[in-house]
Amino acid sequence: MTSIAEQPTTTSAQLTLDAVSRRYGDNLAVREVSAQVPAGKVSVIVGPSGCGKSTLLRMISGLDAPTSGTVEFNGEPVTGVPDGLSMVFQDYSRSLFPWMRVDKNVAFPLRHLKSDERSARVHEAIDAVGLAGKEKLYPWQMSGGMQQRVAIARALACHPKLLLMDEPYASVDAQTRADLEDLLLTIQQRLGITVLVVTHDIDESVYLADHIIVLSKPPSVVAEVIEVDLPHPRDQVETKEDPAFVEIRAHVTKLLRSAESSAAGNT
Ligand code: ADP
Ligand code: MG
Repeated sequence: MTSIAEQPTTTSAQLTLDAVSRRYGDNLAVREVSAQVPAGKVSVIVGPSGCGKSTLLRMISGLDAPTSGTVEFNGEPVTGVPDGLSMVFQDYSRSLFPWMRVDKNVAFPLRHLKSDERSARVHEAIDAVGLAGKEKLYPWQMSGGMQQRVAIARALACHPKLLLMDEPYASVDAQTRADLEDLLLTIQQRLGITVLVVTHDIDESVYLADHIIVLSKPPSVVAEVIEVDLPHPRDQVETKEDPAFVEIRAHVTKLLRSAESSAAGNT
């Protein structure tokens, strides 16, 4: 079997959004968003609540269709949930099955595989998120942070080319959040997969990203795309003290603040 670590990075997905809009009745949730998500990097979409981030992720994952515009994954238009795409949601308590132990939760999307390949992948993914030895626990016996690790393991076990995460750490405490951010960066650096994270947290966006897509007020458009050249491995203290980090954070804050004040002015 090919392990997650052995996947050639050249096969990592590249995502292209071309003038993607989504309307719900009279409400224009997403307005002509065009953006590129480079392969083998961490891209972050940051924007205020209600600006259409989850709507965008649903369209990228093929769970919802744009009203106009196109989403392409690996050069192919997205029409249903594409192969090679896994998603992690904010609400781990609803994404895990409470009656299944950790190993069964992680194995769930691999039902189609032969049992030895399935167990190898489950073992590898649980190991990657630091939960070796916890395979036989139930989700309700674990902290929120550990449950989110299980959800990440389940996504990794599918050997995704693109990992989508919708505000994955918004429901955990600050220390756990920092640990999970570092875990994500470690896994991404090791596997070279393409990661797209959505967050409304500016610090988190700059800390995680190689590439930031800043969305404006709703209905969202891309306010700016920022390349983040901060070195890896990143460190919660050192990186955040780096003048480049401080400068980018201030810049994103300013962009979002002007987005919010013009949103207020429009209502
Ligand atoms: P975010 O994730 O950035 O907070 P969302 O994508 O959840 O924003 O929502 C963007 C806008 O679209 C909001 O005004 C929201 O009420 C609306 N919206 C999202 N999903 C639906 C839906 N299924 N039906 C109707 N309106 C929706
Ligand atoms: Mg959302």
